[in-house]
Amino acid sequence: MAFCMTPLETLIHDEIARDGPMRLDRYMEFCLAHPEHGYYPTRDPLGAAGDFVTAPEVSQIFGELIGLWLAQVWVDQGRPAPVRWIELGPGRGTLAADAARALRQAAPDFLAAAELVLVETSPALRARQAERLSDLAPRWADTVDDALSGAPAFLVANEFFDALPIRQFRRVAETPGPGLPAWTERHVALVEGALTWRDLPGAPPEPLAARLAEPAEGAVLEACPAGEAVAAAIGRALAERGTGAALLIDYGYDDAERRAAGGRDTFQAARRHEYADPLAHPGEADLTAHVDFDALARAARPANAWGAVGQGSFLRALGAEPRAAQLARANPARAEAVAAGLHRLTHPAEMGRLFKAMALSPPNAPPPPGLTAAPKAPEGAG
Ligand code: SAH
Repeated sequence: MAFCMTPLETLIHDEIARDGPMRLDRYMEFCLAHPEHGYYPTRDPLGAAGDFVTAPEVSQIFGELIGLWLAQVWVDQGRPAPVRWIELGPGRGTLAADAARALRQAAPDFLAAAELVLVETSPALRARQAERLSDLAPRWADTVDDALSGAPAFLVANEFFDALPIRQFRRVAETPGPGLPAWTERHVALVEGALTWRDLPGAPPEPLAARLAEPAEGAVLEACPAGEAVAAAIGRALAERGTGAALLIDYGYDDAERRAAGGRDTFQAARRHEYADPLAHPGEADLTAHVDFDALARAARPANAWGAVGQGSFLRALGAEPRAAQLARANPARAEAVAAGLHRLTHPAEMGRLFKAMALSPPNAPPPPGLTAAPKAPEGAG
């Protein structure tokens, strides 16, 4: 209804009225990234007063261990200098601030060799990062390609890929007509003035369709072309320079979980820590989908992919438990809070299993800490 529409809703209605039903990835991009009215550019969504909480906001241990991970990878590669410490979507800058504190103690050489480069579209969050990270003198790059176009990259991205726009395909029982695929692609249409889902004939890209040998009616496949493009840029930069690494942490399925789910709709909206209707408040709810680590690993070739492993086992391998014990000893009044944070980050029923860590590294680089399984076979439907 026109009288209660947000400015973004008006823009979306106008574009649908002009061009017809809007693909889901376009809708997500509008809602999340519109420079004036989009979700990220207009707010700080994190924390208790916001819409969701991320791992670095749960416990300082997260950022500290990631800082030490970066330094260890850097040492294992012979301490190259200069390098870029890049973070994609740094939020409030908490991860980088915690990492830097650990690095000052354990690996000041890494800090001396590294220039901190942040990729962030939201002016609101850029301001928070500037404040929080002023002692590190960060620089902001407008695109991932810009960030990668210099010294070797030591890159971190936490909950960045889950916010990139997806396309979504559904298996239908019969082809809707001669020559048409037995798949539809999700769009947003306008019915009597209201945004409504509309599934139009459209087939998933080949490698995606091969995921499900015999897709059942109703099976859902999701593709994130923007995420794959970022992974491809990272993989290219790592392989070209032969130095550097990337650590991608996000929530999503591995192969076995995906097979068990058999092709599921993972698109969701969150608002004030509750699930919301993704069509109800365009630009005012966080929209995310499960990250497809296998697709990112494939896109990043010829870089090697390590993992993905559960966030719980990754953090434990890096020493989360002794670090928590040390923090509790140093400040007994906070012991309970420290334990609760560790539990939330690592327990399988909390963020320990659904959240996963995957590293990318140049073809001949040694295994990164915490992810020492053999590199993922580059081929295969995944
Ligand atoms: N990494 C932080 C924040 C996660 S929220 C944490 O763990 O707390 C997602 C972050 O990615 C936000 O900073 C958001 O503004 C940023 N972001 C989302 N889409 C982006 C894009 N296309 N380019 C750059 N940054 C983006």
